[in-house]
Amino acid sequence: MYDFVVVGAGFFGAVFAHEVQKAGKRVLVIEKRDHIGGNCYSYDDPETNINIHKYGPHIFHTPDKKIWDYMNSFADFNHYQHRVLTNAGGRIYSMPINLATINQFYNLTLTPGEAGEFLKSKIPAIPTPANLEEKAISLIGPELYETFIKGYTIKQWDCDPGDLPAEVITRLPVRTSYDNIYYNDHYQGMPIGGYMPIFTKLLEGVSLELKTDFFEKRDYWRSLARTIVYTGPIDRYFDYRYGKLRWRSVRFEIEKMSLEDYQGVSIMNYADQQVPYTRILEPKHFYRESINLSRGTVVIREYPCDDPDEPYYPVNLKADQAILSEYQKAQSQEKNVVFGGRLAEYKYYDMYQVISSALKQVEKLREMI
Ligand code: FAD
Ligand code: UDP
Repeated sequence: MYDFVVVGAGFFGAVFAHEVQKAGKRVLVIEKRDHIGGNCYSYDDPETNINIHKYGPHIFHTPDKKIWDYMNSFADFNHYQHRVLTNAGGRIYSMPINLATINQFYNLTLTPGEAGEFLKSKIPAIPTPANLEEKAISLIGPELYETFIKGYTIKQWDCDPGDLPAEVITRLPVRTSYDNIYYNDHYQGMPIGGYMPIFTKLLEGVSLELKTDFFEKRDYWRSLARTIVYTGPIDRYFDYRYGKLRWRSVRFEIEKMSLEDYQGVSIMNYADQQVPYTRILEPKHFYRESINLSRGTVVIREYPCDDPDEPYYPVNLKADQAILSEYQKAQSQEKNVVFGGRLAEYKYYDMYQVISSALKQVEKLREMI
C-alpha cells in the first residue's frame, strides 16, 4: 500500500514524489514511456557526444529565486543565456523583436526613444486586444507582425492567430533596446550533463514502474494508494466525456552532420509560412564551455503536427475553454486525485511553473494532513 501513486515521471510527478517521500510518505511513480523526465528527457548521443533533447529544446529559466535555488540543489547550471535568430524572407534577424530587429527591418538607425515613437506611429488603436493577432499588432504594428509572427504562428498552431489567446504572444518580450535575450527571467542556464541527472536525483529511492500506462489497470493502481497524482492529459482521464481538447504536437527530424557548426546559434526560427518547419535546434550551442568536446554536430528540425499520442501544447481556443471548464468541474468532484502539470491542468506552463505548482501542491497537502 502506498500513500501516493503518481502517474507520470515529468517535472510535476518527479518533484511531487521527491517531496512527499522526503516527508516520510510511501510513493510509487508509474510512467508509460521507457524513461523518466517527461518532455524534458535528454540523452548523450555517443557518436557526437552531444546532449539531445528528445522532445524539443528545453532551456531552463525562471524569475523566481526559490525555484532557481531548488533546481541548483539537484544540478549545476552553466551560464547559457538564450538568444534566438529568425530567418524571415531569406534574411536573418534578431528575435525577440528588439532595436536591432526594428532597425534592420526598416533600414533605419533609430535610438531607443525614437524606436518607441516609431512603433507607436505604426500601431493602430486596439483598445482591448482580445486575441494573439490583435495583441501582437498592438505591440509591434502590422508589418512586423506579418513578417515575424503570423506565418510562424499559423504553422505552430494550425489555426487563425485571431482565434488564439493573447497570452501566447506575451511570452515574447518586445524591446526598444538592443537587449536580445529571449527571456526576461533573471535566472537561466542549462543543467550540466542534461536533465537526466536531475530526474535521477529527484526519484532516488522512489518506487518506479516504467512502460506502465495507468489506464491499462486503472482500478488496480487506484487500489494501491489513498491518493492518485495524475499528470497526463485531463480529457483522457475522463474518457473524453465532454469532448476532446485541442493539443498541438511536433515531429522532430534529427540530422547528424560532420560539420563543426551548422547555424552558429542554438535556435534559428523560420518565420515564413512556406517553410514547413518552425525552427532548427543545434543543441551543441547550449554548452559553450564544452563545445570542443563534441564530434560534428546535430540539428533538429521541428515540424508542428497533430499527434493524439504526443500532446505537447494546449491550443486553448474558445471551444477548448468551454470543454476545459467542464473537466475542471468533474475534477473538483473526483475524490483523492490530485491533477497537476501541463497536461492535467491544460496550461502552457514552462518548467519552472510546473515545479512551482508541484511544490505548492505538496504544501497544500501538508496543511491538510
Ligand atoms: P510532462 O513532462 O509531459 O510529463 C508527463 C508525463 O506523464 C509524461 O512522461 C507522460 O509519458 C506521462 N503520462 C501521461 N499519461 C500517462 C499514463 N496514462 N500513464 C503513465 N504515464 C503517463 N519549458 C521551459 O521551461 N523551457 C523550454 O525551453 C521549454 N521548451 C519546450 C519545448 C517543447 C517542444 C515542449 C513540448 C515543451 C517545452 N517546455 C519548456 C515545457 C516543459 O516541457 C513543461 O513545462 C514540462 O515538461 C511539463 O512537465 P509535466 O510533468 O507537467 O509534463
Ligand atoms: N512566435 C512567433 N515567431 C517567433 C517566435 C514565436 O510568431 O519567431 C509566436 C508563436 O505563436 C509561438 C509563440 O510566439 O507559438 C510562443 O513562442 P515560444 O518561443 O515561447 O514557443 P515555445 O518555445 O513554447 O514553442
